[in-house]
Amino acid sequence: MKWNGKRHCPTPKKDKHFNEAWAKIGAEKQAEKYGGNFKGYHCPCGWWHTLDRQKARAVDNARESRSARRIRAKRGEPPPFAHRVAEQKRERIERERDRKTARNRRQRLARQIPIRVWEDDGGAYFGPRGTSTTEQ
Ligand SMILES: [Zn+2]
Repeated sequence: MKWNGKRHCPTPKKDKHFNEAWAKIGAEKQAEKYGGNFKGYHCPCGWWHTLDRQKARAVDNARESRSARRIRAKRGEPPPFAHRVAEQKRERIERERDRKTARNRRQRLARQIPIRVWEDDGGAYFGPRGTSTTEQ
């Protein structure tokens, strides 16, 4: 498996650790701060994150059985993780928006670079009749 650091991260808001050893230190700090049992894991994004073992298991434990799901569906109640799904969807939209913002900024900077370089080199002053070169 190739880790190029560009893979999608399912938990981009988590702390990033460079390697397992740093993740372990991070896990120990979190355990001290929040209590519980943290451990590091290698994320597909290439970084190491930490997870709360109890919390990770809680999701599994809270998963409803097939019969419970049928009963709930009959009652017309929303699935137990509906809010979580909505949250993930919102995060995805935010991520997409951030990506577009970053791309626009990058493109704007790329357009400005020739002008900046030119100005840094001393640019040119056209005299009283000259117009600003940055205006277009
Ligand atoms: Zn990640």
